[in-house]
Amino acid sequence: MDHNSTPQFSVDELLEAVGGTLLQGSTDSIIRGVSTDTRQLVAGNLYIPLKGANFDGHDFLDVAVKKGAGGVLVDVHHAFILETGSKKTDGCLKILVDDTLKALGDLARFWRRAVGRPVIAITGSSGKTTTKEMTAAILEQTFSVLKTEGNLNNLIGLPLTLLRMHRGHDLALVELGTNARGEIKRLTEIAEPDIGLVTNIGPAHLEGLKTLEIIREEKGDLYGTMPKSGLAVFNADDEAMAPLRRSWQGKMLTYGITSRADMTASDIAKWGESGQSFTLNAGSESTVVHLSAFGMHNIYNALAAAALSRAAGIGINEISQGLRNFHPVAARFEVHFLPNGAFLVDDTYNANPASVREALKTIQTLKGNHRSVVVLADMLELGDQAERLHETVGSEAAATDVDRLFLKGSLSRSTAAGAIKGGMTEERILFFEDPEEILDDVLSFVEAGDWILVKGSRLMKMEEIVKKILDRT
Ligand code: ATP
Ligand code: MG
Repeated sequence: MDHNSTPQFSVDELLEAVGGTLLQGSTDSIIRGVSTDTRQLVAGNLYIPLKGANFDGHDFLDVAVKKGAGGVLVDVHHAFILETGSKKTDGCLKILVDDTLKALGDLARFWRRAVGRPVIAITGSSGKTTTKEMTAAILEQTFSVLKTEGNLNNLIGLPLTLLRMHRGHDLALVELGTNARGEIKRLTEIAEPDIGLVTNIGPAHLEGLKTLEIIREEKGDLYGTMPKSGLAVFNADDEAMAPLRRSWQGKMLTYGITSRADMTASDIAKWGESGQSFTLNAGSESTVVHLSAFGMHNIYNALAAAALSRAAGIGINEISQGLRNFHPVAARFEVHFLPNGAFLVDDTYNANPASVREALKTIQTLKGNHRSVVVLADMLELGDQAERLHETVGSEAAATDVDRLFLKGSLSRSTAAGAIKGGMTEERILFFEDPEEILDDVLSFVEAGDWILVKGSRLMKMEEIVKKILDRT
């Protein structure tokens, strides 16, 4: 097996990795690389057909073979039907598996073990990608790091990430995401992390996960499933995490601000208009950190990144330097300076109750004596709790002194009701559908020093408003 770049597998290795049965083809060929999409397939690749909401990859088996696939997997539902049309695999190496998605994960784990580099895994309700990027900014100073690109954190994205690993990497840094109970367990089995972190536990993805207790169990599966010889990193300030910490028997590292922890932050202060500074303490050592990111939640993300890096053997000064090199991921509390001296915060990447609360609190702190405008669209995926959680967010908007609230979406009436209960007067709340309806109102309202926050679930496309504001100013 050559581990230097593209994954390579002999047919025997492949059969062992996926627990498959050889249906067709010779056992002495070599497979180079893996593809789940015939549009990106390169000759020699193993084609793994996956079933999505709209397509079944098995319908493109003939395309994969025509493009020179080195082999294809097929599941039991497709293996024994007569080869006609799109099912034609014309003598190509063909392996039968029970479930192609499971096979993809199994193959990734096989490869991860073969390459044998340490893996750091991050899950949690919020802050996974930010923490991953902060950790990467630190680790990349010393190591060659393979990291999850963007948000490819699910049962397809994680295996494909691990399959990009090679011996030139010193370690892998991966994000694990979940929409349904059981996914974190499976993702952890695939990644076999040496170092693991759950950032926090809060109401996100409630549609698939229903209650906070189920979310805790789901995220907790990271610690429950990672090897016992591994090192678990814990957020000591998150109450919901305490039971998970108590049941972890192995090595651990904790971080926090209000609790006693191995790594803590003190002297948190504003760092001009760029972000925040704080003192990072680790035992008897301490160092000052400058962070180009706002909000307490980002102090937590930075502490989490510091603890993960420490677990990977990085010294505290290097951690500080790495965090200084971090730049916010686009559309995650990204601050734009408007020509009139007001600030526009683009937090349109996504929204759930915890992240909206954090954003509102951050805006309240940042605005000081100035005013704030919040443009908020619905938070999706909240199941039957949606109305209640929108009400709560509305009351939080009132509690954080929002001066103008612009709301979009079918749940905005609940948000408004909460805001009014919280003491906000009706004339300060406006509903809209099209960004054009509110641009003039927003822009004529804000003066130098004021803050505009734009946020909403991914599907609500709030980035259009940010773009329009930037185009107009
Ligand atoms: P996803 O589930 O979409 O992958 P994620 O967990 O990767 O999300 P990020 O992309 O890092 O999270 O951040 C998304 C938003 O969550 C941010 O814009 C911010 O508003 C909020 N957020 C980030 N970190 C935290 C945190 N530690 N606690 C609460 N909210 C946070
Ligand atoms: Mg993410």
